[in-house]
Amino acid sequence: MRNIKNKIQLLEERIRQNEEQLHEAKKIRAEKLPYGYSALRQFIDPETMNIHYNKHYKGYISKLNDALEGKNGDLSLEEIIKTIERFSKSVRDNAGGAYNHAIFWKMLSPTEMEPKDEILKKINSNFGSYTNFKKKFEEYAKKRFGSGWVWLVLTKRGTLKIMTTANQDNPLMNVIKEGGHPLLGLDLWEHAYYLKYRNKRDEYIKNFWKVVNWDFVEEELMRLTNKNLQESNSVKKILKEQSRMNPCSEEDRSKIRSMFNNNPESLDMYQSKIKDFLAEVFKDKHYERNEYGPNTSSGVYDLEKPGRSIINYLNTNYSAFCPLLRDLNLVLSRANMEPINFTGKNKEEQINEMARMLGFIDQLKFRVFDINSKTFQNLFRILSQTSGKGNKTEDVVEKKFKEKFGTENIRRIGELGSKEDMMGIDMKIFIDGKTHTAQVKPFTSITNEDGNLRIDGTANVKKYTTDWMVFVRRGKDIMVFDNKDSQIKDGTYFFPESSLLYQF
Ligand code: MN
Repeated sequence: MRNIKNKIQLLEERIRQNEEQLHEAKKIRAEKLPYGYSALRQFIDPETMNIHYNKHYKGYISKLNDALEGKNGDLSLEEIIKTIERFSKSVRDNAGGAYNHAIFWKMLSPTEMEPKDEILKKINSNFGSYTNFKKKFEEYAKKRFGSGWVWLVLTKRGTLKIMTTANQDNPLMNVIKEGGHPLLGLDLWEHAYYLKYRNKRDEYIKNFWKVVNWDFVEEELMRLTNKNLQESNSVKKILKEQSRMNPCSEEDRSKIRSMFNNNPESLDMYQSKIKDFLAEVFKDKHYERNEYGPNTSSGVYDLEKPGRSIINYLNTNYSAFCPLLRDLNLVLSRANMEPINFTGKNKEEQINEMARMLGFIDQLKFRVFDINSKTFQNLFRILSQTSGKGNKTEDVVEKKFKEKFGTENIRRIGELGSKEDMMGIDMKIFIDGKTHTAQVKPFTSITNEDGNLRIDGTANVKKYTTDWMVFVRRGKDIMVFDNKDSQIKDGTYFFPESSLLYQF
C-alpha cells in the first residue's frame, strides 16, 4: 500500500516538473552571441556591440515575453513571426526585434568571406554579379528612411530579392506583402552604429561586407530550398519522368467523373482552388473579369498564345485531373507519405482527401505549374487535345445547322472566355425571329430507358442554361434536344423522347 502511495507521489512530482518545463519552454529565450564583443572591430566597436546585444536585443526578448503573456502556446519565435497578424502591435514590435537580432548575430562573422557555391550562383543569376548585388543592397539601405532593416530575401518562388522593412518588421511576417525568408539582413537603426559612425551611415553600410557570414547564408539557402518540396531534386526528377508514362486509363477517368458528379462539393473545392493556384502562379498573366477586354472572364491570358489560355480549362477537364493526381501520388510515395485515394470512400472522406490533395498542390504549385515541369507539359498537352476535339465537334454541328437553317442564321460563340462561353453557349440559332442558344457535346451511345433517352459518354456533365443540348457522335450523328426537360442522373443526361427536336 505504502509502496503504491510513494509511486503515485513520485509520478505526481514528475508531472509537475514536466509542466514547469513545458511552461518554461514557452518563454522565448535570448540566443548566445557567437563571438566576443570586440570580434567585429572592422565593422563595429565593442561598446556598441555590448549595448546592442545586452540592452537592445535582450530588452526585446523580455518585453516580448511580457507582451505575449503566455498566449503564444507552443509557438516558436519563427512561428510567431510567420503568423504575426493575429498578435498585438507590441508583440509585433518586440517579436520582430527579438527575431531580427537573433538572426543578425548569426549573419555576421569575425573573418571576411566571399559568397560561393549555390548562393553565388543564385546572386549571379538574380542580380547579374556579386558587385551589382552589393551596389543594389547598399542603394536600398541608403534609401530606407528612419529605423528599419535591409534584407536579402528568398521569395516563395525561389528567387532572390532585396527589400527593406520599417521598424522591427521582418519579410517573414505575414503582414509584409511580397516578403519571403530573410537570408541576410543589416540593422539600420541608429543604435546599431551611432557611437562609431555618428551621421556617416553610408560608411557603416559599406563596412558591412567585411563581416558577412556567407557560410550562414549558404546554409540557410540550402535548408530552405531542401525543405520546400518544389525545390528538391527528387521532385524535379519525378516531374521529368512523367512525360514517359502512360496517360490514365478510361477506367481511372470515369471513376473521377463519377466522384465529381455524385459529390459536387468535392468538385467545387477542386475548381475554386485550382483557379486560385493558377491566378497566383501566373500572377502577371492573370486578369479579373472584364479586365482583359469587354465580356472577358477572369483567368490566365497570353500564356501559350495571345488571348485566353487553355490552362484555364484545368478545373473542368477530368482527363487532366487524373495525371495531376498520379504525379502527386508519386511524389508522396517517394516521400513515404500516404497517397491520395478517393475510391471506396464516402462523401465526407472524399472531401477530406480532396482537401489533402489541394494542400499538397498548394505547396508544389510553383513547381507543378511551371512551364518547364513535365507534369505541366503533360497537362497542357491533354488540355490542348481535348479543347481541340471540342472545336471539331462544334464545326460539324455548325455545318449541318447552316445547311438546315441557313448560313446567316447560325452564330458560333467562338471567343473563349466571353460571357456566352461562360454560360455554356456554343452557338446561337435564329429561327423565325426567335433566338435559340445551344450547348454542343460529344457522346458515345444513346439508349432508350422506358421512354427516356439516356446519353452516355459526354464529358463534364452539368446543367446548362441553354435552350438546346446538341450531342454529336464520331463527327457525324447529331441529336438536338430541348433542354427544358433534361435530367441528370448517375452522372448522365436523360431526355424524354418528346424533347428530341432534330436528328441528323
Ligand atoms: Mn538593433
